[in-house]
Amino acid sequence: MSDTYLSLVPHDPHWHPDEPAAAAAVNVARGLFPQAEHVAVESEEGVTFFDAGANTESVHCPFCGGDIEEWWGGAMDQAFAAGFADLSVTTPCCHKPASLNDLRYVWPAAFGVCALTVVNPGVTSLASEQLRAIEQAMRSPLKAIWQRL
Ligand SMILES: [Zn+2]
Repeated sequence: MSDTYLSLVPHDPHWHPDEPAAAAAVNVARGLFPQAEHVAVESEEGVTFFDAGANTESVHCPFCGGDIEEWWGGAMDQAFAAGFADLSVTTPCCHKPASLNDLRYVWPAAFGVCALTVVNPGVTSLASEQLRAIEQAMRSPLKAIWQRL
């Protein structure tokens, strides 16, 4: 038996919905996933990295496509030490300003202060209309991160 977690993370890593928007998004998600065990907007103490929990992560530069996985580990450690307050970095390959949130993660990943979490939604993918319905209720574009434990 494994558990599936779907986390919907706002695009802006510092943004969180107000209570009515969070409640509306939870209602929409409950309607879309009636079999889900748990649906809630969970707020974190600070900016948190949400990812698929895979052992191997592959990270590429959004500008030149270079493999920056080795550099990324150090950049994440530094940003983590500062509580992810500042996600700005300079890419090691082509020396361009970027955000850790905008790198090309092969496994979907996102930074955020909150996520709408659906535990065992009963499906393994999200249709774009479903995502849009939740985004409209939440009033923010969202990144969908699937985690299977
Ligand atoms: Zn590059």
